[in-house]
Amino acid sequence: MNAYVESVLANVREKYANEPEFVQTVEEVFSSIEPVVNKHPEYEKADLLNRMVEPERMFSFRVVWTDDNGQVHTNRGWRCQFNGAIGPYKGGLRFQKNVYPGIIKFLGFEQIFKNSLTGLPIGGGKGGSDFDPAGKSDAEVMRFCQSFMQALYRYIGPDIDVPAGDMGVGGREIGYLYGEYRRLKGTFENGVLTGKGFSYGGSRIRPEATGFGAVYYLQEVLKHEHDTIEGKRLAISGYGNVAWGIMKKAAELGAKVTYFSGPDGYIHDPDGVTGEKIDYILEMRAKDPMHCKSYADKFGVEFVPNAKAWGVKDVDVYMPSAMQNDVKMDSAVKIAESGVKYYIEVANMPTTNDALNYLRSQKHIIVAPSKAVNAGGVGVSALEMAQNSERLVWTAEEVDAQLHKMMENIHRVSAEAAEEYGLGYDLVAGANIAGFQKVAQAMMEQGIF
Ligand code: GLU
Repeated sequence: MNAYVESVLANVREKYANEPEFVQTVEEVFSSIEPVVNKHPEYEKADLLNRMVEPERMFSFRVVWTDDNGQVHTNRGWRCQFNGAIGPYKGGLRFQKNVYPGIIKFLGFEQIFKNSLTGLPIGGGKGGSDFDPAGKSDAEVMRFCQSFMQALYRYIGPDIDVPAGDMGVGGREIGYLYGEYRRLKGTFENGVLTGKGFSYGGSRIRPEATGFGAVYYLQEVLKHEHDTIEGKRLAISGYGNVAWGIMKKAAELGAKVTYFSGPDGYIHDPDGVTGEKIDYILEMRAKDPMHCKSYADKFGVEFVPNAKAWGVKDVDVYMPSAMQNDVKMDSAVKIAESGVKYYIEVANMPTTNDALNYLRSQKHIIVAPSKAVNAGGVGVSALEMAQNSERLVWTAEEVDAQLHKMMENIHRVSAEAAEEYGLGYDLVAGANIAGFQKVAQAMMEQGIF
């Protein structure tokens, strides 16, 4: 191990022992970039890596809101402006009960390298709240979002920091957040948020972008293996926005999602989620984000309660698309034993580090990392920013074509970076290296701070 990388990791482990998800992502990224640091001894003198793991700015704020019965509630909000070396801070907001600084920081750190990989000028950021959206009325969500934006609006802007959605934050929340921003600022600066509704500056294809991008990336991997997507059966986890985009694009390209899951268990639909079933996914998600069993009842397919589909053999590709640390060592062993060749991460950090390294060490499995595979979402967010600053609207075909090209590029630069350092077809290391190099260079060229 490179001594400088080692010392930075020791520092992070000690300082952030109470933020295990953050330590996990730093270990994952920095274990890949060793050969780059070996080649650039000047990084140590500039203490580049310790600077990279310290957010440029991170703040917390109070979010007070009143429920429909007149009861007042107090939540915590955060925004982490992690790294702005290559563009305005960019990254989503997560509203979920379990959110705390360790979650925001892990997501923000991942975002730096993911955003760099898109090839577009966006820095890394993330934010959110420990607000639990489950069971809240529209009016409650609106009041919460308005209060959240009252605390945040001074510190964001189209050239400063551009939040978007993440878990618990979709089109509805972005609408309320933008409305409040506009009201407070008195300007129509819609480039301040992405994932907006189309009527006020949202981009075509943004809702589908993460899922579509993931399937385009998968196609590149298949191409590399002289294989095609036709007829492929996909096992995914989750049934949110990202899963929906995968289902839609897979069906369009002649593949099919035959397994998906929710917190309550998994669904096996051997015919695949196609046609009207894809629309039902959206409906089911909006009604109940905690249970997917109703799909089995409606379409007469199998539901297995309290289990995940990791280890099933009658699929060709695994795509964990739900949340962090979804695949731990026991699931990784089952996945390896299933004989399935493609393990394509989609959710942010869906695999624990030991499980990821185990899967990477299996010769018969190709592993692709989420920061590359899901980058199409934020990539199209950057295209939304471009449209907003141009005061233009691009067609769905134009956005989709750019997204497709972006995913081809991300796969190519990752494969090339791994190749350059003699690592073979290692998409995990390649993505980390390619994402890191650009940010490192920008930081070195901008001076010491
Ligand atoms: N939350 C998404 C992500 O993890 C999207 C962020 C964005 O569009 O800014 O990349």
